[in-house]
Amino acid sequence: MSKLLIVAFQPSDIAQLSGFAKKLGLPFDILLLTGSPAQGYGANRLFVGSLPELPPADALAKAVQPIAANYTHIASVSSMSSKDSLARLAGLLDAAMVTDVLDLESPTVFKRPMVAGSIVATVEVLAFPVVLTVRPAGFGTTDPGGMVEQTPATLTLEGRASRLSATSRGGSRPDLGQASVVVSGGRPLKDAATFENVIGGLADALGGAVGATRAAVDSGIAPNELQVGQTGKIVAPDLYIAAGISGSTQHMAGIKDSKVIVAINKDPDAPIFEAADFGLVADLFDAIPEFRAAIGK
Ligand SMILES: Cc1cc2nc3c(=O)[nH]c(=O)nc-3n(C[C@H](O)[C@H](O)[C@H](O)COP(=O)(O)OP(=O)(O)OC[C@H]3O[C@@H](n4cnc5c(N)ncnc54)[C@H](O)[C@@H]3O)c2cc1C
Repeated sequence: MSKLLIVAFQPSDIAQLSGFAKKLGLPFDILLLTGSPAQGYGANRLFVGSLPELPPADALAKAVQPIAANYTHIASVSSMSSKDSLARLAGLLDAAMVTDVLDLESPTVFKRPMVAGSIVATVEVLAFPVVLTVRPAGFGTTDPGGMVEQTPATLTLEGRASRLSATSRGGSRPDLGQASVVVSGGRPLKDAATFENVIGGLADALGGAVGATRAAVDSGIAPNELQVGQTGKIVAPDLYIAAGISGSTQHMAGIKDSKVIVAINKDPDAPIFEAADFGLVADLFDAIPEFRAAIGK
């Protein structure tokens, strides 16, 4: 019988994948890797991994394999970490893999972006199991439901690599790939201090994450892990604020699933205005302090 396992890297992944699970229409269980669960969203069972932190991808894939082997469908929220680990899991399970699922027609037919999002491909899976990474934006969330039966999961961590240390550069800001608000800045931000002050300041005022264009990253204005786009992170927040960003195809490929895009650009002909829901033709160094003052009120 077909059955789905949601591999949740953190508790918020469960809500994010609830709409996908509902549309897939299969009975499902959840494996929560880190953190404490809140609600079950219609799952039958919840395996609680209680990992203090995420291990390297090869160790995680091996640890998840014995549980995942009992399912036809294994799915996670699309992120750098999930693609890293789940690709290895697919290899261990000899499974098909479909990444960045945007929508589905049936438990075997999925839609995913290709060529930096300019094409949406419909792909059919011919054999099970299938490992999926899902972009949740198009699926919505369902009613949280009540608590479900919880079972401690035995995750044995053995891999060819071990992490010696990890340094977070994101501070207390939400994860870029999961945040409901993202404020991104581009080339005109001048230097790292200005970027942090202007873009970071607005993001903090809104409780959001910070993103950047490749031009900003390449110029040393923003750290590499903040790059959004075709060769950076894919984001799908409720609100994406793009300040001093021209709107290249490569950048837009990473933000097109955002619910509302607000663009601030001093050039009224900037391509970003074609995709933006709200556009402000202004100098960002005037507009953002005004905006922050208004938030303060
Ligand atoms: C293979 C490949 C992959 C790529 N992958 C990515 C990717 O993943 N992500 C990505 O972002 N890019 C990517 N790029 C680069 C992309 O093509 C663009 O060069 C880049 O996105 C431009 O960044 P930008 O908008 O910051 O800079 P620019 O294109 O220089 O735009 C700056 C904008 O700021 C406006 N501006 C200037 N001053 C102000 C001010 N004071 N106030 C308000 N507005 C102002 C200007 O009018 C302009 O529109 C890739 C390119 C290639 C070839």
